Amino acid sequence: SMPVQEYLTHAYEQFPKKTAIHFMGRDVSYEELYDSSMKFANYLQGLGIQKGDRVSVMLPNCPQAVISFYGILYAGGVVVMTNPLYTEREIAYQMNDSDAKAIVSLDILFPRISKVVKDTKLENVIITGVKDYLPFPKNMIYPFIQKRQTGLSVKVEHRGVNHLFTEVMKTASKEVETAEFDFNEDLALLQYTGGTTGSPKGVMLTHKNLISNATMCDTWLYKCKRGEETVLGIIPLFHVYGLTTVLILSVMQGNRMVLLPKFDAETALKTINKQKPTLFPGAPTLYIGLMNHPDIGKYDLSSIEACLSGSAPLPVDVQEKFEKITGGKLVEGYGLTETSPVTHSNLIWGERVKGSIGFPYPDTDCKIFLPGTTDEVPAGEIGEIAISGPQVMKGYWNRPDDTAATIVNGWLLTGDLGYMDEDGHFFIVDRKKDMIIAGGFNIYPREIEEVLYEHEAVQECVVAGIPDPYRGETVKAYIVQKEGYTVSEEEFNKYCREHLAAFKVPRVYEFRKELPKTAVGKILRRSLVDEEVAKQN
Ligand code: ATP
Repeated sequence: SMPVQEYLTHAYEQFPKKTAIHFMGRDVSYEELYDSSMKFANYLQGLGIQKGDRVSVMLPNCPQAVISFYGILYAGGVVVMTNPLYTEREIAYQMNDSDAKAIVSLDILFPRISKVVKDTKLENVIITGVKDYLPFPKNMIYPFIQKRQTGLSVKVEHRGVNHLFTEVMKTASKEVETAEFDFNEDLALLQYTGGTTGSPKGVMLTHKNLISNATMCDTWLYKCKRGEETVLGIIPLFHVYGLTTVLILSVMQGNRMVLLPKFDAETALKTINKQKPTLFPGAPTLYIGLMNHPDIGKYDLSSIEACLSGSAPLPVDVQEKFEKITGGKLVEGYGLTETSPVTHSNLIWGERVKGSIGFPYPDTDCKIFLPGTTDEVPAGEIGEIAISGPQVMKGYWNRPDDTAATIVNGWLLTGDLGYMDEDGHFFIVDRKKDMIIAGGFNIYPREIEEVLYEHEAVQECVVAGIPDPYRGETVKAYIVQKEGYTVSEEEFNKYCREHLAAFKVPRVYEFRKELPKTAVGKILRRSLVDEEVAKQN
């Protein structure tokens, strides 16, 4: 029961010279990571950051994100992860809701932040250059930024001071006043929900929540060989999925993480080929992107041993193709921000059930309740998935009513519908909110998506209920076709009629080049529906 940052201290003591982070040609050893994090903590304490103060990290995957994360924890603070793609309005909302005192971000994002500083309680803005940790010449374009930007425009005055990360690393000492930590109660992270289903809420995650979850992922899933694994970090660290399964797990185990700031199939394939990761947590859209790359055959992907796919359903044919090409295992898991995030997965080195999210993790209980109650339904019946375990959040930040509505009688109500079969395997049916009610029938988009994914032309798809004057809602399919395919609406219609009951067959199709996605690659069904509603009005 050590706080999150102590695992870095341990890894540093055991493996000072080992690489902790590989980032685009640059290696950061455990010693450098530890030293830099302590300097950052010293500097934050010098700014007046005290036990429990919130500090935001608004960075893509890069060494500075890792240093900031551990630095804030060593200083006694609470990390607030902020999506670097946020707009001014979203930044201001999150800074005010969390009451953050400082923010660490990139030079290229500074103009956006500086516009909202005066509307928040931010006292300090710490800026790092996109190229600070890159070994190559200054004029090379960093892939995260779409357009090039030169110079640091950080000398903007507001009530606080703006500081440069590189300067902190040069001038700060490693002296840090260590705070006492209550493992069970103290917050390590304030993680905002994606907001796909409402206004973002701050999820309070304690040291215990994060450490328990990383430990479960290790013992149940990966069985890491300490100090020997390489983790591919493509999923964002600013989302709790990446934070737990890439960052915290890797540092706990003294492993090496290879960070990429953005998903791009070709860069990812080249990186796997060269850096030989053994573990690769991801999301279905990411594996789909890799599997459909025309040059996949050119790369050696055989280092991959174990992959966890979360955040959305994993189509069975994607799983099979991925395993065939890499020779590694890809299993589906499930979780949510409120549970740090993983609660279930299939076994990598044991029994796996296709289409199932597997079993609850050790120390984790899962029940299926009649929606709106805490009454269990019998095996095989669909209800709301409820979780209890050490990874369940302490509550929502400053929202006692939301907390009380979500954690009921000790059970976290997930808002997802699912069932358990006779053997104890769990299955997700859909989100409560995504269920389509068309002409009085309950329709689950996922079932239709699975049928579509089995069609050879479908690269990606999503099914949603759109408003319909007669049926209340009607089923619409959005499809991205694989390169070289132009299957018509009539043909899809015929195909669906062969595989689905008539009331489930999509009435409307739309073909697109790509689908809107969140930072972890989850397809944004909600925004497609909003578009449709706007179009109809
Ligand atoms: P918000 O909760 O704010 O609406 P979000 O959906 O991005 O945003 P997350 O906590 O990031 O919130 O995602 C958790 C959700 O992802 C789960 O509640 C579930 O609906 C979905 N999910 C995760 N894993 C799977 C899976 N294997 N199959 C189906 N759905 C999954």
